[in-house]
Amino acid sequence: MSVRRGAALNADMHCHSTVSDGLLAPAEVVRRAHANGVELLALTDHDELSGLAEARETAAELGLRFIDGVEVSVSWGDDTTVHIVGLGIDPGDAGLIEGLAQVRSGRDQRALLMAAELEAVGIHDAYQGALAYAGNPAMVSRAHFARHIAAQGLARDVKSVFDTWLAKGKPGYVPHCWATLDEALGWIHGAGGVAVIAHPGRYRLSGKEMRRLLGEFAAAGGGAIEVLSGAHSPEQVREFARHAREFGFAASRASDFHGPGESWIDLGRLPPLPEDLTPVWQGFL
Ligand code: AMP
Ligand code: MN
Ligand code: MN
Ligand code: MN
Repeated sequence: MSVRRGAALNADMHCHSTVSDGLLAPAEVVRRAHANGVELLALTDHDELSGLAEARETAAELGLRFIDGVEVSVSWGDDTTVHIVGLGIDPGDAGLIEGLAQVRSGRDQRALLMAAELEAVGIHDAYQGALAYAGNPAMVSRAHFARHIAAQGLARDVKSVFDTWLAKGKPGYVPHCWATLDEALGWIHGAGGVAVIAHPGRYRLSGKEMRRLLGEFAAAGGGAIEVLSGAHSPEQVREFARHAREFGFAASRASDFHGPGESWIDLGRLPPLPEDLTPVWQGFL
């Protein structure tokens, strides 16, 4: 397959199911991607691999090419959470399985601490509420808290809940220790995958800090960056295309779809990658 065909492929390398904080079951995510014209899909649930078998099976039934993926939560620098997507990982790899179990293990305690903080600002029983939205009780996420709080009519939508209560610096935000960058890349590489910096435009880092992050990521063997992300403005797409060229990273195209009506963009609905960049999926075709 030529480079051109690669760049023009409708590939979506980042999305979520009910196994983490998505709204659709793995099979439904795959069916929706197929209906949207996606030709190559990676499911990348947060710190979880348990949706991959169902997604792969459904993709095979539909004749849709599928890549096993994961999105690892990482703590970097001074309380910055960074997400690293692993693509083409072996879901049976013991090191990756054990590492992710370790990352997940602190979630429940964190959720209880968040609920206590929210209680103090008058939002009652938020833990039980969030749990009811979680398809996987080991994966209670801020997204589940946000859905619960929005459903109670306390905010206009999920995004406003983050702006008021859940984003860093807001009353329900609880700092948490995720994996280190080196651990995440070690697990991904050990499982045969390529590491991708997820939605770099969302980290609110200064130019200098961003370059430091990308430098450390490159030094640890990181291979790609999400140039196209549902979370990126056109200006950010240009900015991260420049970073990909400068650092020699492959480029990814990633909706980060979580569910209908809740995401920036639907599965497969991003523009094509700039043609001079190397698509991260080139190695998977
Ligand atoms: P957690 O891993 O529990 O910290 O939750 C992070 C998840 O919350 C992300 O993966 C997104 O799905 C969601 N999220 C984070 N920030 C926002 C935001 N500003 N608006 C909407 N969803 C967000
Ligand atoms: Mn999420
Ligand atoms: Mn993310
Ligand atoms: Mn994501």
